[in-house]
Amino acid sequence: MDFSFTEEQELFKTSVREFCEKKLAPRAREIDEKGEIPHEVLEDMAAFGLLGITIREEYGGRGADFITAAIAAGEIARADISMATAVYYLVEAGWGFLMDRYGSKRAREEILPDVTKGKAFLGIASTEATGGSNIASISTVMEKTGEELVVRGAKIFISGVREAAKYGGGYVTIVKTSPELAHKGLSLCYLPVKIYPE
Ligand SMILES: Cc1cc2nc3c(=O)[nH]c(=O)nc-3n(C[C@H](O)[C@H](O)[C@H](O)COP(=O)(O)OP(=O)(O)OC[C@H]3O[C@@H](n4cnc5c(N)ncnc54)[C@H](O)[C@@H]3O)c2cc1C
Repeated sequence: MDFSFTEEQELFKTSVREFCEKKLAPRAREIDEKGEIPHEVLEDMAAFGLLGITIREEYGGRGADFITAAIAAGEIARADISMATAVYYLVEAGWGFLMDRYGSKRAREEILPDVTKGKAFLGIASTEATGGSNIASISTVMEKTGEELVVRGAKIFISGVREAAKYGGGYVTIVKTSPELAHKGLSLCYLPVKIYPE
């Protein structure tokens, strides 16, 4: 089998490498030291078409397949050794794809264009203190109370919280809606990030 990239993929790789060497690598130390991705970097990445890369063009993405998405991830990680930007990028590539394919029309229209423009982060909130791999042990629940859906629980190790809190965004959150069904009783909901003053 031939696993080499196509000519188009090679060209894309070269162009992402050039972009990252110019716009991302010079900021890598700053990103690492501050623990924060500067907004100009996200704006540049959005303008290049890297944010929410798998999201369809009608929502501002490239509709890229996962090989293309992975090529860009490798180049981003090469420039930003802290992995901050690579993780940010990958989370949006993965969960943007899911939101685009399975989200309601209203959710797609309200959330995705801001994600691909770099105006809002889209992440995943799955992991809990009891473990990450075993999603059957998730204890965050979502219940209907009257007309409201109430989510109760706590998540840990969540990427992009700082950026989402500062620039806007939210999380595809894994919750239990039928706790008695273990891993079959899970649902996904979108929770916008809101920081309450201490
Ligand atoms: C940089 C970074 C960013 C992250 N960002 C996010 C995020 O944005 N959102 C989010 O929800 N989470 C995030 N996480 C958490 C990540 O998803 C979890 O760390 C991951 O799911 C693994 O969970 P854990 O660390 O609790 O390990 P565990 O699930 O406890 O696993 C520990 C070890 O046991 C092994 N293991 C587990 N179950 C089995 C099994 N059944 N059989 C055999 N071996 C098993 C695993 O392979 C692993 O080696 C992030 C983690 C990192 C490192």
